[in-house]
Amino acid sequence: MDKSAQIDTWISDEIHEECGVFGIYDFDGNDIALSVYYGLFALQHRGQESCGIAVSDTSGPKGSVRSYKGMGLVNEVFTPESLEDLKGNIGVGHVRYSTAGASNRENTQPLVLNYVKGTLALAHNGNLVNAPELKEGLAYTGAIFQTTIDSEVIAYLIARERLQTRSVEEAVKNAMLKLKGAYSLVIMSPRKLIGARDPFGFRPLCIGKRGNSYVLASESAALDTVGADFVRDVEPGEVVMINQEGIHSDMSMTQPKKAKCIFEYIYFARPDSCLDSVSVYNSRIMAGRILAQTYAVEADIVVGVPDSGNAAAYGYSLESGIQLATAFVKNSYVGRTFIKPKQSMRESSVKIKLNVLRDVVKDKRVIMIDDSIVRGTTSERIVRMLKSAGAKEVHVRISSPPFLYPCYFGTDVPSDDQLIAHNNTVEKIRDMIGADSLGYLGVDRLSELIEGDRGYCDACFTGNYPIEPPKEDIRGEYDR
Ligand code: SF4
Repeated sequence: MDKSAQIDTWISDEIHEECGVFGIYDFDGNDIALSVYYGLFALQHRGQESCGIAVSDTSGPKGSVRSYKGMGLVNEVFTPESLEDLKGNIGVGHVRYSTAGASNRENTQPLVLNYVKGTLALAHNGNLVNAPELKEGLAYTGAIFQTTIDSEVIAYLIARERLQTRSVEEAVKNAMLKLKGAYSLVIMSPRKLIGARDPFGFRPLCIGKRGNSYVLASESAALDTVGADFVRDVEPGEVVMINQEGIHSDMSMTQPKKAKCIFEYIYFARPDSCLDSVSVYNSRIMAGRILAQTYAVEADIVVGVPDSGNAAAYGYSLESGIQLATAFVKNSYVGRTFIKPKQSMRESSVKIKLNVLRDVVKDKRVIMIDDSIVRGTTSERIVRMLKSAGAKEVHVRISSPPFLYPCYFGTDVPSDDQLIAHNNTVEKIRDMIGADSLGYLGVDRLSELIEGDRGYCDACFTGNYPIEPPKEDIRGEYDR
């Protein structure tokens, strides 16, 4: 087992977002590498395996792109010296967690592609469902792939289309006609920054402005970090092109049907982000309120499992009038190089990351709010920790519906045989995790999390895939 696989096992009961993307174009010609670094730092929760930055100078020679990438967290990969070398006023950055394609240096992004029209640097968040077919088609016409990630297929398609189009944004649109699946893209050509979002809008992307610069980012919290004002979201199917003249939008690829990932609001995104005009924090509060309405129980305190359970616990407390308390202290410093405890050791991965405040829970009836149950192992350990600390009762409330199906759109919600809810009733799961009661958010209430908007994806809860899923689970397939 390689090191990254060990780390995977260590965090195996958590669901991961695949990636975060960031881009900036400074019209005044200032160096932007440090801003990309801070932007990626703000998006670190979206991917902790690798990261990278590519920059260019719009007044320099076309095709002169500098990039720096590596395995690890943003603050592990970059040094002041490596950032100093990245001179340029236009740049893109990426943080990655792999769901398709191995975790190695070749697969880090941004991908930088040199071709006859210059250089393209591309950062991608999402997963294509037709990457193997597209890759095969390209390979038969001579393409040689350097990586095992679907993002390279996108970069190739764009480069190829660019040979027949007048502009790179047209090439992006033509490539989009062939892509099926989830993609939020930030692309740098020698003189342009381009943002594109798939027509379903699975993954988020927004636009910010800071002085004389435009910024593109997966989440609005990253705009705040670099001091940019939020301008608006990139619409599903929209292509935005930023050049010296300003920002230009093309909406010709938009479609009525949208499928924004509802789990971004429940878990993936930062609570201080706004996605498609909805505050993530408010949607989590709403999830907690709904849980209090549907699964009321007599108890002394409500506690959230950090971090995404906290806002939902607050919502539950507001709705029920039951006191909100802090029961857990979290150690946030677990990086990918952390040595995983062996099975035989007394220290479990959960205990290393979370500790219980005994005085808070002792002799109390506790309502514990968490965002999801994947395999059930983590929930079982946390319930056990609360009971060992003296909690009289533990009532578990989950701010998402049960996971029943895998995700093919840029997250690692695993195959159904690994999902505890696929083969077990709620009562059985309650018993397995040792809780006194268990209640999940109802699928019928999901739209209330995003102010009644119906344009969301809930396929991992319902099996209603907005795009036909691949016949087999291709997420590992792409590695071979
Ligand atoms: S299947 Fe689930 S995790 Fe995947 S995009 Fe849809 S809602 Fe999000």
